[in-house]
Amino acid sequence: MHSGRTCRGGRFTLSDIKLTVDGEAVVVPAGSTVLDATRKLGRSVPTLCHDDRVDPMGSCRMCLVEIEGQRRLQPGCAFKASDGMVVSTSSDRVQQHRQLLLSMYMSDHAIDADGLPTERGVGNRLRSHVLEHGHGPTLPAIEAPRGYRDEPNPYIHFDAEACVLCNLCVRYCDEVEAVSAITLAGRGAGTTIATADQQGLLDSSCELCGGCIAVCPTGAMTEKPSRANDYREAEKVRTTCNFCGVGCQLDLHVQDDRVVRVTSPDPGTTVNDGNLCIKGRFSYEFIHHDERIMQPLVRGRDGNLWPATWDHALDVAAKGLLGVKARHGADALGFVSSSRCTGEENYLMQKLSRAAFGTNNCHQCAAT
Ligand code: SF4
Ligand code: SF4
Repeated sequence: MHSGRTCRGGRFTLSDIKLTVDGEAVVVPAGSTVLDATRKLGRSVPTLCHDDRVDPMGSCRMCLVEIEGQRRLQPGCAFKASDGMVVSTSSDRVQQHRQLLLSMYMSDHAIDADGLPTERGVGNRLRSHVLEHGHGPTLPAIEAPRGYRDEPNPYIHFDAEACVLCNLCVRYCDEVEAVSAITLAGRGAGTTIATADQQGLLDSSCELCGGCIAVCPTGAMTEKPSRANDYREAEKVRTTCNFCGVGCQLDLHVQDDRVVRVTSPDPGTTVNDGNLCIKGRFSYEFIHHDERIMQPLVRGRDGNLWPATWDHALDVAAKGLLGVKARHGADALGFVSSSRCTGEENYLMQKLSRAAFGTNNCHQCAAT
């Protein structure tokens, strides 16, 4: 039954649902979850295993809320909102549940000297939740015999002790990347994130996209190149990835005038929806590489490349191309552009080929 029966004035559509959260009315589209409704009202309902890009699993139990008529607390991320529903996100029962649950998580998690879940330089949502909601009794630490694997890949580090088994990395790898390189394995306290036969990621189907790092709420999956440092204070500079023509947006993390890390803007905000490939996420060392070419080089009579001004380099290139055309005709020339260039740059390249030099021998790598 929908509140859309009163759609006059365009306020509601036939598929709208009206419910009450913490005494406040909210209208959400049909199909929304209780968590969607609480977020629309700006309520702070903690989650660990939730990400809008994958199907809800309700495994972490952090987002349990009280719903009138339901005997048990229900996971907001997986429970569909319905017309007339009355939800409480912060009743005593809900708070009690959260604090006990956080105590249980903490008993199987590295704890700092300050008595809080360890921060690994990338943000730890378990720690944030404890800071915001508190925790219950201090429970004895769990002995957890987890399987370990050698992981010589250059980019992804997995710290099983920091994993809360939310399974988000596995679901992301399966549902967003469609790779299924990792899985939950084991039973009880020994459960961990594994690959088939515990092979290293390089020997699995993993594409080293790093999406598992991006979704991990605790920093159990982290970037090897930057994990020794805390870059949370680095300035973020938005840019467009130039490794291909898709146009993914990147946030370059800049500290002391150096790019120290690359992440995607949040899901739902840019064209890449929080996702990046291995090149966009990890291939940034070239920016500060000693051997990076920073100015034009022109080959001298001695056969060596020498630094030159742009004017001189362009002059030499133009003379060379015109010389080939004069001696052998325009079709002796060929112009090759790149999908790393912008559409405008590729247009100019074919214009140069056709209009300036008179040949249709122009090509771009994305055409192959
Ligand atoms: S890096 Fe990408 S492909 Fe590899 S395990 Fe993580 S999500 Fe899956
Ligand atoms: S590695 Fe991170 S994302 Fe994966 S299950 Fe553990 S805590 Fe969740």
